[in-house]
Amino acid sequence: MRLTVVGCSGSGPGPASAASCYLVEHDGFRVLLDLGSGAFGALQALADPDSIDAVYLSHLHADHCLDVVPFVVWHRYSGRSSRRRVPLIAPAGAERRLGLVYDEGGAPLTDVFDFAATPVSAVLGPFTVQTARTAHPVECHAVRLTAHGSSLVYTGDTGPSRAVVDLAHGADVLLAEAAHPDRDGLPPDLHLTGRQAGEAGAAAGVRRLLVTHVPAWVDPGAQLAAARTAFPGAELVAPGATYDV
Ligand SMILES: [Zn+2]
Ligand SMILES: [Zn+2]
Repeated sequence: MRLTVVGCSGSGPGPASAASCYLVEHDGFRVLLDLGSGAFGALQALADPDSIDAVYLSHLHADHCLDVVPFVVWHRYSGRSSRRRVPLIAPAGAERRLGLVYDEGGAPLTDVFDFAATPVSAVLGPFTVQTARTAHPVECHAVRLTAHGSSLVYTGDTGPSRAVVDLAHGADVLLAEAAHPDRDGLPPDLHLTGRQAGEAGAAAGVRRLLVTHVPAWVDPGAQLAAARTAFPGAELVAPGATYDV
């Protein structure tokens, strides 16, 4: 499978990147992992929006879901949509929440999306999907996509989590958030530091660790250096970068 970084700025869009959005494709099937603020713009430079076969939202924080709105507008009004309904997997309540983001009346979005609550496991096109609840203030699910014997795990947002490490066990690629700078007094069960992202990759025994979700106000070089203290080969993602998994 192939991973393309559409947006990787943590906690909101930054000057150099949209918020979280990752395009994963295999055998001509394309799934978006998150569709955060600003990501729909960047997506159009990388893929025809009509070619997106499914959307997976880890959780309903704005930096992971807000660009569902321009995705709907595009499908309704561009004249370029084939009008097939797109499966949208998200925590329960997404249909109501995203409808309210679209307009104050909470108009249904079911002409564009086929909503499904996040499953523990499922089949999605050529992918086997497995999920795990993360350590985050709202319902958030990390996801493992497996195809042709290769696995990609995306943490979504999480603090240190045994469940996420277990989900990532032996994966080829772990795409791990590292939003917190390493300092005292951090709130628990919210985000990983760079070091904690590295520790998660090492504990899971993954082949490759990709560090992401660094906010615009945090030094990405410091996050990478901290991740490398526990996982020496850790890499920092960038918008537009592609990875064969
Ligand atoms: Zn986030
Ligand atoms: Zn979040």
